[in-house]
Amino acid sequence: MRLLIEHATVWDGSGAAPFPGQVLIEGERIEAVAPAGQAVAAAEGAERIDAGGKFLMPGLVEGHAHLSFVDTPRGTALGELPPEDHALLTMDAARKLLGAGFTSACSAAAAKIRLDVAVRDAIERGHTDGPRLLTASPELTVTGGLGDGRRLHLHQDSFGVAVDGPDEVRRMARLCLREGCDTIKLNISGDYGTESALAETTVMTDAEVAAGVEAAHAIGRRVAAHARASDSVKRALRNGVDIIYHCDFADEEALDMLEAAKDRVFTGPAIGIVLARLESLRGDNSWQGQSFLERLRPLYEATCRTHNEMRKRGIRIVIGGDYGFAANPQGTNARDLEHFVAHLGFSPSEALQAATRTGGEIMKRGHELGQVRPGFLADLLLVDGDPLKDVRVLQDRKRLALIMKGGVRYQPCEGAPHVRRLH
Ligand SMILES: [Zn+2]
Repeated sequence: MRLLIEHATVWDGSGAAPFPGQVLIEGERIEAVAPAGQAVAAAEGAERIDAGGKFLMPGLVEGHAHLSFVDTPRGTALGELPPEDHALLTMDAARKLLGAGFTSACSAAAAKIRLDVAVRDAIERGHTDGPRLLTASPELTVTGGLGDGRRLHLHQDSFGVAVDGPDEVRRMARLCLREGCDTIKLNISGDYGTESALAETTVMTDAEVAAGVEAAHAIGRRVAAHARASDSVKRALRNGVDIIYHCDFADEEALDMLEAAKDRVFTGPAIGIVLARLESLRGDNSWQGQSFLERLRPLYEATCRTHNEMRKRGIRIVIGGDYGFAANPQGTNARDLEHFVAHLGFSPSEALQAATRTGGEIMKRGHELGQVRPGFLADLLLVDGDPLKDVRVLQDRKRLALIMKGGVRYQPCEGAPHVRRLH
């Protein structure tokens, strides 16, 4: 298959200004990128698409995906889903994500050990449609930490697996690695919604973090951390964690350490869920609502302060806002671009680079993913609108004229949040 997309405004993801141009695709890769009017020798005989001035850009990368978080109001509702039903819902979320223009996703945890793995394999075998997927384990957490949904005398699960002590962490990490997880997720800090371990606390010990990292790195896989407290960020860095999400309360020392490791680590604020929760609390004058707000507001302010500073220091930040809860459902992930511009000081171009070029890097494929360049994989979006003027156009699926993954063309389905493979 050879395809020439001509008369497009090409934005290549590097941060360079867009230009009127044309892109030749051969099979699953980009063969040539040229300014408008320049002859492209290999285009002879290729099928042509007249882009009519539309905006051609790299496909989006979700950097903090939870495909198996299926829009439930509570984490414990995930524990009530049988694996078979849960797998189908996860597959559905993958189709929604591709339909929203995301051609790649780096998982930040699955709700059950094999959910990401089964869906990744189904996508790769062509049994279903979805983004390129790097899979993750459930959230390995300590007793009482984020994702430990258990209660005494009740059988109740959530999205985490509680493990205490380095031996338990090592055993569970190795089991998840054996089952095909690309990333081990460790909840080093607490969270704002957790009863005993709050966001400012660091609950996973050094020895536990080290055990998880050692198990993953031994076979060349990665570790991602949930780390809101400043000490949890430092603990992650000292032990070689590869992806450090949130970092909200990072102090000066933690920021310096992140900066020193910026060629090695990735971060992502996951601000989408925080803003969605703040929005849902508006007008809630109940005691519970008010006390939740008292926890959330300082967290929101810390996130904005920290990620503005990290952006200035050139630390790699990816988009992805914990989509997959009732307040911020799967498929609305492009809202994160708007949040980056409105709350974290990113220009539209910087936000789009976080979602494309940096996204390709967190997928471990920065040499062939996330930019419109010759030799790169043909993961592209053709947009009816200019996201550099207003990133919100990417939230409107009707404006996604074409979604391409590896040279295969998709279009959003009419009336359903999915995609249709064109051939
Ligand atoms: Zn998350």
